[in-house]
Amino acid sequence: MSEVAASPSSRPHCDTCSAVCCRLTVLLGPEDRIPSHLTAELSGGQPVMARDEQGWCVALNHAQMSCSIYEDRPTICRRFTMGGPYCRDVRKTYLSQLRAGIPLTQYG
Ligand code: SF4
Ligand code: SF4
Repeated sequence: MSEVAASPSSRPHCDTCSAVCCRLTVLLGPEDRIPSHLTAELSGGQPVMARDEQGWCVALNHAQMSCSIYEDRPTICRRFTMGGPYCRDVRKTYLSQLRAGIPLTQYG
């Protein structure tokens, strides 16, 4: 992933981002209808989107850096605002991790 794509100084836009928000823990609610092979459970039993070995949500299409279940994506994903404070914050954290050489396999 390029640093430019996650740079906090650049204007955030999903078309030029490394889908950084798709590395966050995606909690699922009862209204979400996600195929079970794409989900996991936290230690407390809370259903979440499963992650791949690099920390991205397993529903992410890496070739296009887009959501493969976009029409049926979880509620929490629908509410995530491009360019909002959480978007900017996660991009900043991701860039710091890249620059510090912290392996992408370490995520919160
Ligand atoms: S919402 Fe923000 S962090 Fe997520 S893909 Fe778009 S620009 Fe990147
Ligand atoms: S369900 Fe789609 S939008 Fe939500 S984190 Fe996964 S890939 Fe991203």
